[in-house]
Order: sequence, then structure tokens, then C-alpha cells
Amino acid sequence: MRLNLHTHLEGRLRPATAAELALDLPDLGPSSPAAGDLRAWARALQLDGPADLTVYLQKVAASYPFFGSEEGLHRISSEAVQDAAADGLDYLELRFGPANHVRPGRDLDAVTRAVCEGVAEGMRLSGMPAGVVVAALRDHDVETNLQVARVAARHAGNGVVGFDLAGDELRFPELEPHAGAYAIARAAGLGLTCHAAEAAPGRFARQAAELLGVTRIGHGAHVATDPEALRWAADSGVVIEVCPTSNWFTGAIQRLEQHPVRRFHAAGVRLALGDDNPIQTQSPYSAERSLLSAVFGFDDAELAELDATSLSAAFMPDSTRAALSARLPLS
Ligand SMILES: [Zn+2]
Repeated sequence: MRLNLHTHLEGRLRPATAAELALDLPDLGPSSPAAGDLRAWARALQLDGPADLTVYLQKVAASYPFFGSEEGLHRISSEAVQDAAADGLDYLELRFGPANHVRPGRDLDAVTRAVCEGVAEGMRLSGMPAGVVVAALRDHDVETNLQVARVAARHAGNGVVGFDLAGDELRFPELEPHAGAYAIARAAGLGLTCHAAEAAPGRFARQAAELLGVTRIGHGAHVATDPEALRWAADSGVVIEVCPTSNWFTGAIQRLEQHPVRRFHAAGVRLALGDDNPIQTQSPYSAERSLLSAVFGFDDAELAELDATSLSAAFMPDSTRAALSARLPLS
């Protein structure tokens, strides 16, 4: 049973699709690779090595021009689901920031609808269930994020299953400005998660839970170095979505072996696994899962525990949860 609860649509654009879609996008900018140049697009999207969150997000942003067209939105969303299924997943929760993809004549609602339709196609073609998590962005203004939350609420039950806050926590750590957006998402019955304590101190994870009402924390790497935050995480039952390789690329940890996933587990923190932006890091979910065994020593029972936690914490309809539960090994 493999459930990916933390991955970004913007981090799943195939370089081959970028090279092809670029043929129809003459205004990509002077520094963009030529249309059709697959290797150059791979270089443009993939990270060379560890840096910081700002540099990491710049690589992710290299995918943004391709979400400007209806075809791009639909195709990239559909392929993201198909690629996840091909990677061996049983369920995918796919997050994206619609406000980055608004263009003249294509508003938040149209962007979100196109992504939901693409995901639905990917589900049909792959036979794998998936849900869309709409992300507000830290560097966007409060009014934009309120609009994003309203659009997410409108699409609840029609593909959208959750709400997130993503973006540059290094430069924009404050959470209070986003409380209104989360209130809208909560009222619509959406599941709530938030990137927190990825670049900012561990206490921001607790703040996200208490101020925004989230039940899951994206990354939370710095929770492990703050004893009070770590105790809170274990006691509260919050689920931390760990993405080890991503944390190495963003500089949240200096060496992969230093990732706190084992420390989290030993402290009693509930865990789920994600691959964040697998095109940029070149480490899809299957590779992240292998790391849990090979680098962090998770045995089969501990991986089964992670799967059970992921299933209970996923923002999926009860019918999907019941169908997937039936496939869990009996403990
Ligand atoms: Zn993320």
C-alpha cells in the first residue's frame, strides 16, 4: 500500500512534455531552452545540488509557463497521475497553486477546473484514485489567497479534497495573514495541511495547527530540533508529511542521513511520506520509500505503520478509504 500525500503538480512536469509544449509557447523568455530541446528542458527543471528553499522554488517555477495553456493544465495534471501510478502508488494527493497559473481570460476557477479534469482523466487511464489539494502561496497577498480558498471551496467534492499553504517560508514565515483563507476551506469541509517548519523554526508547526486548524504538516523538518515542538507533535497526533530528499535540496538538512524521520518515529510522531517535487529532485515516491529502508532502517512493520497512518490522514472520501483499507495487510 503506497500513498503519496505530499507532491506538487508543478514538480511533476515531464521534461519531454515541456520540450513539446514549448513549441506552442513562443514567449517563454530569453533564458528558456529552445522548444524541442529535451535535454535542455531537463536541465532547466532539475536541481544541480543542494541550495536553499528560494533557489529550490525557482527551479519549480521554471514549470509555470506550461500551465498557461488549457492543454498544458490538462495534460500535465493527467500525466502526473499516470506517472504516480506507474511509480507503484495506490493513491496520490496532488497539490498545486492556482494563482500562479491565472492568465488573461483564464481565472482561478477555470484553472482549478482544468486541473481537476486532467486529474480525473489520469485516474480513468491509470485506475488509481487521486485528490487535488489547492495551495495558497505565502508570497501572495491576503486577498488573492482568500480568492484561492473560495475557489477551492467551490470545487470541494468535485476533485478538490484539501487546502495547503506553500511557498517561501524563509522569506514569509508568518501564518496569521492566512487564517481567513483556512477558515473558508475548513467551512467547506476540506482537509487542511500546511508547509511549516521547513525553513522556519519548529514552533511554526504548532502555530499552523492551533491557528489554522491543520491536521497535517508539510515537511516540519525543524520540529525535530526543538524538544518542545517535538513533544507537541507527538502528543497532538498531527501527521508530518516527510519528504527527505527535498529537505536535503532545500538545505533544511545538511546531509540526507541527518533527516529526522527516524527521530520523529522514535518520539511517537505520526508520519506520512511524499516526494514533493520529483522532477526537480529526480527522486520519486518509490525512491523516497527505498531511502526509508536503506538509509533510515525502517522495517516492513514500520512501513506498514506509515501506510496505515497515511490512509487515516489522507483527505479522501470514505468510500475510497474503505476500498483501500480492504487491501491493507491484517495486523
Ligand atoms: Zn511541498
